[in-house]
Amino acid sequence: MTTTMLLEGLKTNYPHQGTFLQAAEELLASVAPYLESINATEADYKVLERLLIPERIITFRVDWVDDAGVMQTNTGYRVQYNSALGPYKGGLRFDPSVNEDVLKFLGFEQMFKNALTGLRLGAGKGGSDFNPKGRSDNEIRSFARAFMLELHRHIGIERDVPAGDIGVGGREIGYMYGMYKEITNGSEGALTGKDPLHGGSLGRTEATGHGIVYFADAMAKHHGLSLTGMKAAVSGSGNVAEFTARKLIEFGAVVMTLSDRGGYLYKETGFSEDDISYVMKVKKLGQNLDVVTLPHTEYKTGSLWRFVSAEAYFPCATQNEVNEDDARAMVNSAKLIVEGANMPLSLEAAHVVREAGIPFAPGKAANAGGVAVSGLEMAQHAGHYAWTKEQVDGELQNIMKNIHRLCVENGQAESGKIDYVVGANVAGFKRVFEAMKKLGW
Ligand code: NAP
Repeated sequence: MTTTMLLEGLKTNYPHQGTFLQAAEELLASVAPYLESINATEADYKVLERLLIPERIITFRVDWVDDAGVMQTNTGYRVQYNSALGPYKGGLRFDPSVNEDVLKFLGFEQMFKNALTGLRLGAGKGGSDFNPKGRSDNEIRSFARAFMLELHRHIGIERDVPAGDIGVGGREIGYMYGMYKEITNGSEGALTGKDPLHGGSLGRTEATGHGIVYFADAMAKHHGLSLTGMKAAVSGSGNVAEFTARKLIEFGAVVMTLSDRGGYLYKETGFSEDDISYVMKVKKLGQNLDVVTLPHTEYKTGSLWRFVSAEAYFPCATQNEVNEDDARAMVNSAKLIVEGANMPLSLEAAHVVREAGIPFAPGKAANAGGVAVSGLEMAQHAGHYAWTKEQVDGELQNIMKNIHRLCVENGQAESGKIDYVVGANVAGFKRVFEAMKKLGW
């Protein structure tokens, strides 16, 4: 058996799951030379074949009542991908684009990301095609409770511990956890991203964005660069984008952009912390970025990647937001490209930046800080103790430095050049692969 044969098998079995196939293709290309280097046996390839397939995919109907008293129906999912390293762990996404393909891709990426943290975490992902945009607080609560009415059967502290993702923040986690507590008559920490009042960890909200910048800092230093004074472009204006932008500003970088689904805000001289707070206030009111009025700031439509010349790019919105043409424009000025979202660069875009030799960090390495602090939250909740923000931040910094080290060790070519995609894939894969073999899987 070969990795090419495995990819062909996936293409035959899942011809309509293009996003999943994209993630699988990248992983298989990265681990093929490693498997050859260890003289992998047929039995090893059989383990890899199993690793590509989720252990379980749960699909369910979610019925909820809107503000007009009308019963609405959506589809809910939980993809329990791999539990070799620990309980399934990964976020829930509420967005109309959610389907089995998207959740399989996210669960697959989560497997290697969670392994990179070094914590005892398996991998999963879930969510619904429910669109939270324009819904009232009462409707969000109604949907979240209906979703948990089914999901609670499949989760638990040693089984599966979901968290947030696109469309699921602290409020949604709170409503789902409230329902979980009522149904189970208990307080076990079967969700992370909770408020500290309910056993959540300080620093979890900020962890993904802060971790991205700690990773970028390690990467910059490794290449003799500094984030201080660096012109940065960030996309998105959700959880990951906000805390990436804030931490970059703290490091002295010039954050010139934030975006939403309609376009992007551009401030050449860079946003201040107060600017970011104001933008987030607008978002919390459910408004789009086009209503933002800040001095020297314009709202533009079109591809920010093509029109904003930056030294560091941080795509933090969603998958495949950067295409090949975007990447060709980015490489003209980029010194660093760090994925904050999961797989925001298409395969072709990633190929362009890797060929150009620009240090490029894949999301599974750079954005692992969120799930890492979720892992710390699980330990704090179970142990009935709470770390200070400083303790959590110290641990996050160590984990991100360690992931950077793993990428360098596993992704360094003989020429000395580091391919972070190969490094992250091989380091994450080795851990899951060994864990599966030792379990007799
Ligand atoms: P979020 O708070 O819901 O924010 C998502 C942002 O991305 C919003 O600004 C949204 O635009 C934008 N966006 C979503 N879909 C888009 C599309 N199709 N085109 C353009 N913009 C789009 O979500 P988040 O938690 O920040 O997650 C962002 C990314 O990071 C996702 O890839 C997620 O999987 C990944 N991630 C998140 C975490 C975490 O801890 N939250 C951890 C690891 C990875 P609007 O403002 O118009 O809605």
